[in-house]
Amino acid sequence: MQTDATAQQVIEQDASGLLAELAGHERNAIHRASQVRFCSPGEILVSANAPNRTAIFPITALVAVGRGLRDGRAVAAGLVGSEGMLGADIILHTEHVGQVVVQCAGFAYCMPADDLRHHFDASARLQKSILRFAHTLLGQVTQNAVCYRFHALKQRMAKWLLMIDDRSGRLDVGKSIALLSIALGADQREIENAMEQLAAAGAVRHRSGMIAIQRDALEPSACECYEMVRIDRGAEEPR
Ligand SMILES: [Zn+2]
Repeated sequence: MQTDATAQQVIEQDASGLLAELAGHERNAIHRASQVRFCSPGEILVSANAPNRTAIFPITALVAVGRGLRDGRAVAAGLVGSEGMLGADIILHTEHVGQVVVQCAGFAYCMPADDLRHHFDASARLQKSILRFAHTLLGQVTQNAVCYRFHALKQRMAKWLLMIDDRSGRLDVGKSIALLSIALGADQREIENAMEQLAAAGAVRHRSGMIAIQRDALEPSACECYEMVRIDRGAEEPR
């Protein structure tokens, strides 16, 4: 059950991200039309090849958007936190064919599809914010496609962990191998090996049941794609 403390935290977190670009009355309308729900790591919020009837605005949760094959193998194409949302398919009246899996625990607004279409039509700011994020996500997905083709698993894992850290996400130790296996399209033994290499370099360690990263040690292990997706989401100027 959501406590007053966590509800207050959700509202405070909402002060940043995509919804922060809206006017106060527009944010309030999103609040009223949505259910604030806690998302658990590994939870499937949208199933592959199923119609998507709910828009998702992550607040403190991080979600991975992915695609898979008939045999069940899958890979994440993008990571989304409070800077974005999932529901462009709803606005475009298209069938959702991907899968949305919770990567890091936290809260999200879940809004019925009809309400999203209503608020999108009514708010030029929401239109601008959603369309701008759709462009940003396309950039991330495209860069990740290049990354999967040319860069090693250790590099991709370092990039993914930095992307999680950028969004203030925390990866549960007990579920990290399984979640990273899905996100990075590698088997669990490969994920464990890559994680051990990063741990040996002092880039990751366990702390209070979560994966803690040391950015100075982790950044050298990441491929150049990290800089590209970081630039794409406007985190800061390229170095
Ligand atoms: Zn890469």
